[in-house]
Amino acid sequence: ISSTQDAVIKREEQYGSHNYHPLPVVLKKGEGVHVWDLDGKRYYDFLSAYSAVNQGHCHPKIIAALVEQAQTLTLTSRAFHNDLLGEYAKFITEFFGFDRLLPMNTGVEGGETAIKLARRWGYDVKGITPGKARVVFAKGNFWGRTIAAISTSDDSSSTGGFGPLCPGFNNVPYDDSEALKAELEGPGGEDICAFFVEPIQGEAGVVVPSDGYLRRVKDLCEKHKILLICDEVQTGLARCGTMLASDHDGVKPDLLVLGKALSGGVLPVSAVLGSHEVMVVFRPGEHGSTYGGNPLACKVATAALEVLMDEGMVENSKIRGEQLRAGLNKLAAKPGSPISLVRGRGLLNAIVIGGNGGNYSEEGVAWQLCERMAGNGLLAKPTHGNIIRFAPPLIITASQIDECVSIIERSIDSL
Ligand code: PLP
Repeated sequence: ISSTQDAVIKREEQYGSHNYHPLPVVLKKGEGVHVWDLDGKRYYDFLSAYSAVNQGHCHPKIIAALVEQAQTLTLTSRAFHNDLLGEYAKFITEFFGFDRLLPMNTGVEGGETAIKLARRWGYDVKGITPGKARVVFAKGNFWGRTIAAISTSDDSSSTGGFGPLCPGFNNVPYDDSEALKAELEGPGGEDICAFFVEPIQGEAGVVVPSDGYLRRVKDLCEKHKILLICDEVQTGLARCGTMLASDHDGVKPDLLVLGKALSGGVLPVSAVLGSHEVMVVFRPGEHGSTYGGNPLACKVATAALEVLMDEGMVENSKIRGEQLRAGLNKLAAKPGSPISLVRGRGLLNAIVIGGNGGNYSEEGVAWQLCERMAGNGLLAKPTHGNIIRFAPPLIITASQIDECVSIIERSIDSL
């Protein structure tokens, strides 16, 4: 990389905490499916800020909403009403078919909120013994970095050295409804208030469960009177070729957590949506956030959702996703290909490097491939060492997908 970019990276390394390991590229501009680095080199963005930029970078309609509202009123706190929260709550609940909204900022706050709602509902409505409520999670889950979020994690790089962790959580294997059934029917099963799950596990490496898994889970939740919490912070908002990934199984969760693309990558906006019965368990003063439900977020989120609908991003995600996987599968089938598996749904996809008996470090190859792709104008990042996620903005065109597959092919050939 150029000395200009190198200097910027060094400054960040000197003054910032080292809690990330970015690819060595410094970006300064984004538009649609593209981002540009400090030297003016253009890239396809195949990460979309972990699926926060589904609508494409700097979408004009979302930015217009941001700018207009930023000049009018940005934050009142919830100490007073603002003129937009009610309008936004009506819009988003009707959009997703829920009764009520609780607005927060980041995805992890949405998850925390859902857990608090579920515990309180467990005590007040289900009648769980005070202090005993338990929330079950899936192994491999990722929903953020707070103490509660890492307390549900089975990844030692998330938890190591951060204890003591929170009680009241436990895990069952993902994509295994029998394991959940055993947990619900096992000792202490009556203390379970919720199952918290990602319809497709994003950070675990785009792990797609078998068809009908979520349906079976939903049936179990109903039978045992526990809440199904779907964390669609990464999978939702057209990313997986349906408006929500849970739509794929025809499942409506009791609590839905959204974030990331709810603002189209413009500012942190998250939401918990649910039924009247669950959402009214909080009383004034028991939960909240200074920025949650701020007028700027309300306007931006409304625009971000309208853009998804108006521009047919659900359909485009589905069709372009099929095209992308077909192209990647061709690359995987080439003799000596380092790609051992292609998986995903819609435009949330991943390739797995290795497993072909090759005499190389899978993690090393994944990182090297990302560097080569960057050199050829496409940005993606390994997750869990040997898995590379491919998740471009949902406005990508057919010819752009073709071009991206050829960039990936060229990069593999040069390894
Ligand atoms: N939930 C899921 C499924 C995620 O993938 C993420 C982030 O990657 C989060 C929650 C946390 O979101 P945030 O980083 O906005 O707190």
